[in-house]
Amino acid sequence: MADQRIAILFDIDGTLIISGDAGAASWRLAFDELYGIPADIGAFTDTGLTDPEVGRKTFSGVLHREPSAEEFERLLDCRLKHLRHTVRDSQGYRVLDGVEPLLTTLLGKGHLLGLVTGNVEPAAHVKLHRAGLNRFFCFGGYGSDSEDRGELTRVALRRAELVYGAPLSPGQCIAVGDTPHDAEGAHAAGIACIGVASHHFTADQLTAGGCDFVIGSLEEEWPL
Ligand SMILES: [Mg+2]
Repeated sequence: MADQRIAILFDIDGTLIISGDAGAASWRLAFDELYGIPADIGAFTDTGLTDPEVGRKTFSGVLHREPSAEEFERLLDCRLKHLRHTVRDSQGYRVLDGVEPLLTTLLGKGHLLGLVTGNVEPAAHVKLHRAGLNRFFCFGGYGSDSEDRGELTRVALRRAELVYGAPLSPGQCIAVGDTPHDAEGAHAAGIACIGVASHHFTADQLTAGGCDFVIGSLEEEWPL
């Protein structure tokens, strides 16, 4: 039976690209510019958090209080300003193996490609811009839509339906990510997840973490 999946939702960091230190460097520069503190997000956060969560936890970690709404908005703006440059200048930036050929093939087969990521929407596009990858994706769910991965995945699916022009069942959609967080977010939205063991997690860890299919890289045979 031919696979009926229509919408495919890709995580960005560790799945499509690695930005090197660009994300952490942009937060460090923003905290330094606004508060004189070159904050290290790694000291206060884990991978898999959305950008707003990273900003809030690091803010309270270094300033020992919650940001006001105005302060938080200014922090996110300042961080985006620096991200353009840290992504452009990152020595460690690279596109992961197999990404462009796979995206081209999937588009050619008529799939709708989207993003599902903890990045706020402009950060997602800045990170993909350096590699010219924005053109593949016509919808997404972002850290600016919700701090909850399940909810931002549901937002992505609603946008997929808008682009598709008709309702999509969960079985017609699938997420692709490099961590167990991606599987949790996908399952919370009722869809399956392909784990790609291309970055921090091994195939066994992704299977144990709930991924429904696991591949070693996007160069390997597509599991659907
Ligand atoms: Mg990731």
